[in-house]
Amino acid sequence: RKITIAIDGFSSCGKSTMAKDLAREIGYIYVDTGAMYRSVTLYALRHQLFNEDGSVKTSELEKEMPNIKISFQLNKETGRPDTYLNGECVEQEIRSLEVSSHVSPIAAVPFVREALVAQQQNLGKDKGVVMDGRDIGTTVFPDAELKIFVTASSEVRAQRRFDELKAKGMPADYDDIKKNVEERDYIDTHREVSPLKKADDAIELDNSKLTIAEQKEWLISHFNH
Ligand code: C5P
Repeated sequence: RKITIAIDGFSSCGKSTMAKDLAREIGYIYVDTGAMYRSVTLYALRHQLFNEDGSVKTSELEKEMPNIKISFQLNKETGRPDTYLNGECVEQEIRSLEVSSHVSPIAAVPFVREALVAQQQNLGKDKGVVMDGRDIGTTVFPDAELKIFVTASSEVRAQRRFDELKAKGMPADYDDIKKNVEERDYIDTHREVSPLKKADDAIELDNSKLTIAEQKEWLISHFNH
């Protein structure tokens, strides 16, 4: 019997690496919901839908929502899904600091969340899915059979995001990244619609001091439990 696995937590805590590896290991579908909010953000950046102060031009964005189509396609080389925005692969571009620093205001817009949550519920409706995000265990799949809430110190998280960008040959500055991680934490935990918080029945994992292999072992043991 296949179940739904919700993995939530703070920015850059290694959720997606854990979630992807687990999905591959157990033959489940993996859905990166952050990539969806990032894709809407990229679209908004390209179409000048931000005000000077970084706030969102909500009424313009609302009109554009029907023109924003997000999909995932398995990349045969990496064995992981790539994110597509209106048919264009944006997997790299949505990870830039430019997108990271505009995504939280986009994710706080109620109609954006409503549209993406509906799409996420549809992607996971047949179970056998590992979904990672901020509100999966609380809002998208409150009945998920296994819920994990991941945390790590902001220093550890900034270092991981820094290493990841460097490895991809993308520009990275540790202090800028740490500031961005902390700003996103703040906005994500304080927004009105489904703020980031641990679901009551989620199991918490602080992975500050765990290697990827140790996290994987921890996850598999909870899955088999
Ligand atoms: O997971 P990732 O860091 O790619 O997510 C980017 C941003 O998207 C988060 O900082 C948060 O603002 C938003 N997000 C969200 N709800 C989700 C997934 C991501 O609000 N389920």
